[in-house]
Amino acid sequence: KRQEEEARSRREAMEQKDALHRRREESRQDYLKKRKQQKLDELRDELVDEEYLFGGQKLTAREEAEFRYKKKVHELATKGEKDVEDVEEYRIPEAYDTADRVAQDRRFAVASDRYRDPEHEEKANNFAEQDAWEKYQIGKATLKFGAADKKNSDDYEYVFEDQIEFIQANIMPGSKVRYFSTHKAAVGAMFLDEMQEDRKTLPIFPYRERLLDAITEHQVLVIEGETGSGKTTQIPQYLHEAGYSKVGKIGCTQPRRVAAMSVAARVAQEMGVKLGHEVGYSIRFEDCTSDTTIIKYMTDGMLLREFLSEPDLASYSVMMVDEAHERTLSTDILFGLVKDITRFRPEIKLLISSATLDAGKFSDYFDGAPIFRIPGRRFPVDILYTKAPEADYLEAATVTVLQIHVTQPPGDILVFFTGQEEIEAAEEILKHRTRGLGSKIAEMIICPIYANLPSDMQAKIFEETPEGARKVVLATNIAETSLTIDGIKYVIDPGFCKQKSYSPRTGMESLIITPVSKAAAQQRAGRAGRTSAGKCFRLYTAWSFQNEMDDNTVPEIQRTNLGNVVLMLKSLGINDLINFDFMDPPPAETLLRALEQLYALGALNDRGELTKLGRRMAEFPLDPMLSKMLVVSDKYLCSEEIVTICAMLSVGNSIFYRPKDKQVHADNARMNFHAGNVGDHLALLKVYDQWKETNFSTQWCYENYIQVRSMKRARDIRDQLEGLLERVEIEPTSNPSDLEGIKKAITSGYFYHTAKLQKNGSYRTIKNPQTVSIHPSSGLSQVLPRWVVYHELVLTTKEYMRQVIEIKPDWLVEIAPHYYKLKD
Ligand code: ADP
Ligand code: MG
Repeated sequence: KRQEEEARSRREAMEQKDALHRRREESRQDYLKKRKQQKLDELRDELVDEEYLFGGQKLTAREEAEFRYKKKVHELATKGEKDVEDVEEYRIPEAYDTADRVAQDRRFAVASDRYRDPEHEEKANNFAEQDAWEKYQIGKATLKFGAADKKNSDDYEYVFEDQIEFIQANIMPGSKVRYFSTHKAAVGAMFLDEMQEDRKTLPIFPYRERLLDAITEHQVLVIEGETGSGKTTQIPQYLHEAGYSKVGKIGCTQPRRVAAMSVAARVAQEMGVKLGHEVGYSIRFEDCTSDTTIIKYMTDGMLLREFLSEPDLASYSVMMVDEAHERTLSTDILFGLVKDITRFRPEIKLLISSATLDAGKFSDYFDGAPIFRIPGRRFPVDILYTKAPEADYLEAATVTVLQIHVTQPPGDILVFFTGQEEIEAAEEILKHRTRGLGSKIAEMIICPIYANLPSDMQAKIFEETPEGARKVVLATNIAETSLTIDGIKYVIDPGFCKQKSYSPRTGMESLIITPVSKAAAQQRAGRAGRTSAGKCFRLYTAWSFQNEMDDNTVPEIQRTNLGNVVLMLKSLGINDLINFDFMDPPPAETLLRALEQLYALGALNDRGELTKLGRRMAEFPLDPMLSKMLVVSDKYLCSEEIVTICAMLSVGNSIFYRPKDKQVHADNARMNFHAGNVGDHLALLKVYDQWKETNFSTQWCYENYIQVRSMKRARDIRDQLEGLLERVEIEPTSNPSDLEGIKKAITSGYFYHTAKLQKNGSYRTIKNPQTVSIHPSSGLSQVLPRWVVYHELVLTTKEYMRQVIEIKPDWLVEIAPHYYKLKD
């Protein structure tokens, strides 16, 4: 009987497989038929495009040959004398030689198009850049902003007084490959609604079948394609359509929360399902998936946490590690873990996808996995540099926005800032400067986008710009590669981003505003050429670009504190961290530091093994110091208060807000929470508790200059942390009047972050002395207590401590006797 049973199930499996094959074969035939006509149409579009692109430019021999070849093919195929596919004989072999050699160098390249190697193009681009820069150096190229149109420039001066001078250095060429253009008619009525039509105009679509074949054939595939080609939104859908979702979930990781949410929303829309059902996303503190979810977008950090409960990712049939070029800490760790999984789960498929950077390196790391290249689609972009360095890039950026708005033809603007605070400031300035101008200038729609922006406002950046208006997107580097906004024609790049930096010597981690790398600057510029030729205004000089910017961004793993990751790997049972398969290993000193810190926190014992405390700490998706503070709150009988403080700290620095015209009111309201100089953590606690007393009233937030959105987020986070506390069996305890107990719990996590007041009014950190100051936004910045514990350091004009409480030095000896000994 059992044999019968087995035979039946085998038969069923076979039938299923056959059906799958049949379906694919049918859709393939269907596709091929349409493909012929498409090819012809494409060719025509390409010829039109190229005539435009090449107008006035000198062509290389290869370009010219290709162009002539296409013309011939088009002619013959239109007459019906030949098929589009089989007219190779008209190619001139010599012209392709060099290009081919470069392509062949890439050992494993699954050549999606053997005549177009993006790497070769990249080299050509770089060369052009170099060339143009030299020209500029000898003083040849000088194109003033708006000089082409003197009247516009005057118009501008009429409205605004200040102007920035730009110099055009060079043009970043377009990719000259434009499959499909926006040729919808050719595709026919294969799908019903328009969104499905749109899907087919993406550069990835013509490669759908070849991509699926390559995935069938190889377990690990590296996919490289220009931003906006459709990797993130399309590949998971293709996999679903090809049946992979029948065997397990299709997962796709994103380095950024906003990207995970926004992309999931888009895909749900394309598939016509409700977000959270078939298509969902999971980010820290927010799980928008259900039992029916088959396509799941998530942050790379969340997938790491999933390893804790499902170490073999058994519920997934495919995992796509997207935006791999970002090389976030979590992505780098994931590389090691998923690589391991492919060894004992031969049926799981692994896709590593990235923008056009570093694909060879990924291939090498994944044992020579093939690279699948998706030729991009990009129009040429003029690169302009400022004539002289700009002292204040925020100011310069807003002036440039207005300058473009008044002098340049229609097209939306994208400006890169380093964070929420800058974006909000820029928005204020822009609104302020255009107020009262009425019809003197066209309408300007300002759309901010950053990590903490609520999702309804995120959707705004994708809305089509109404006729006659101009959209100005103010973004963090989320818009560099993770999100594509159509219609951007002008990019303003101040050349900075916020980066974590870590010194293993001092054990200090801080967020620093640093120049971006050349690679990042090129990505940013590329955003201007998605839908038509564009311009990129760099708010720095050509000299800075050449001499002051690194080629590539240093992977996060080499410039961050590894405490969190080490704790996680340890709880996954990976003990030998020195020999973990890192793509780029962190400095040994950083690893040792992390181990040391976890040991000091009591998470590891002296043999480097996880302690009971460490195991409980690993349950929380938080920095080990915060986790420690949560777990010990039990001992000080104040878990309710500590959970609130953790939640408020996790929201970031967006609780209080300070409108330009009401700063005094806002500051007064804020100082109320600091009454008694309780310290910033306790002030945050007060804010939350009072809000709760008013039954979470929005009105109360307005009156007190508190951002209601941030508070709601804090409430969400708090609820989840409370759930996790229950899991590690910590009872809710509360004693609001025992401020000392609460501060001691905080100190148990943060005894590393202690500083002592100096005679000159600045502070010195205790271990590894460094000079620091209390951030002006702190309630204690005027009080200057003798001993403080701080939450984090930020480097702006000085090294500042943000979120500070006063402590007594003897607590340190009481709480961390192995770390501090009595001396003075
Ligand atoms: P890639 O991952 O290759 O950079 P994507 O799949 O993210 O490309 O984007 C493909 C296309 O989908 C882009 O043209 C983009 O404009 C569009 N798109 C992506 N997300 C959204 C969204 N949330 N709303 C509207 N359009 C979107
Ligand atoms: Mg993407």
